Amino acid sequence: MEPRKRVYLDHNASAPLLPGARTAMADVLALTGNPNSVHAEGRALRKHIEDARTAIARLAGAQTTRAAFTGSATEAITQAIVGAARAGAIDRIITSTGEHKAVLKAAAAAGVPVNEVALSADGVIETAALGKVIADADVAGETVLVAVHWVNNETGVIQPLDEIEALLADTQHFLFVDAVQAFGKLPMKFAASRIDMAAVSAHKIAGPAGVGALFMKARCDKFVLIPGGGQEQGRRGGTESAALIAGFGKAAQDLAGAYDLERVSALTDQVERLIETHAPDAEIFGRRALRLGTTVNFAVPGLANATAMIGFDLGGVALSAGSACSSGKVSKSHVLKAMGVADEMAQCALRVSLGWTTTEADIEFFEKVLVGILAQRKSGRGAAA
Ligand code: PLP
Repeated sequence: MEPRKRVYLDHNASAPLLPGARTAMADVLALTGNPNSVHAEGRALRKHIEDARTAIARLAGAQTTRAAFTGSATEAITQAIVGAARAGAIDRIITSTGEHKAVLKAAAAAGVPVNEVALSADGVIETAALGKVIADADVAGETVLVAVHWVNNETGVIQPLDEIEALLADTQHFLFVDAVQAFGKLPMKFAASRIDMAAVSAHKIAGPAGVGALFMKARCDKFVLIPGGGQEQGRRGGTESAALIAGFGKAAQDLAGAYDLERVSALTDQVERLIETHAPDAEIFGRRALRLGTTVNFAVPGLANATAMIGFDLGGVALSAGSACSSGKVSKSHVLKAMGVADEMAQCALRVSLGWTTTEADIEFFEKVLVGILAQRKSGRGAAA
């Protein structure tokens, strides 16, 4: 029997692994040794790690020496934020209400005061409010860490990083950027930018889950979370997973060939048109903001996302209700809440996210399943509780 067709539209959660990354990992797994040993076996593994470091640094526009591998972007984020506070380098953290939980929870755990700046109704960080908090900190003689994301994982909204960097020009404050959803998609110039630290993740660029990296300017080298055996030039202890890192490096190398943002954006536009055609009462969140052409977050009034997601899944389409990071359960999105979206609408929010594997045929399939689910809504079977 033909296997049932599946269409994967959840790239923001985890992008399908690139074939080159899979092969690179298998090759490295076949090797023996510890990459920190000086013998030939160790040096062979070390070479894979350093080649990967060069590849991800190139993609980030960073010097190779400025990248430290971590076990995830969540760890890299925690290292940047908690590490800065523990090192005594900052008096305050300024972040936004629209951050990933990895940022919000690290800020809450850092042990210094935290300000959360609001998002506009379109999901954009209020830079005027951010500027005001920075100015207040200046008056108080505080050094702050501004910790913001670049592209929102739920809405695809691109944050005005240039404006935020300009606010910090000629100051001693620190700027951390959660670049997880932007890395490999938007051009990044870490070395030339005002950004002090940036976190990235392999599985969002079609590499393996369980490996990330923190790019750090030299003045942040002391922001360490796991000192351990001094690996990664003392910036992150613990024996590196050479296989996962090799997969990360190969994904960084191959992504540009596999990923055509213009092509993916055209398909994403098509998704939006289909939603508008079949559900004219649908709302697309962040639609007036600048967004990365990978993500559509929408709600059809009366179509609860918990019900709709089951319908899509049974129909063969994998998508998500907002963020996928909370233990498989559908909870209300704090990002939509921060944008002022009413609870009844937030309960209906669905996120479609496209990427390198997405084809026109996938979108046609999505349309078929969407139309079926909407027909059920009309007949009252898919209604919100
Ligand atoms: N930051 C953003 C914006 C994300 O989308 C994610 C993952 O969903 C993370 C951080 C966490 O990444 P990781 O899964 O590598 O810990």
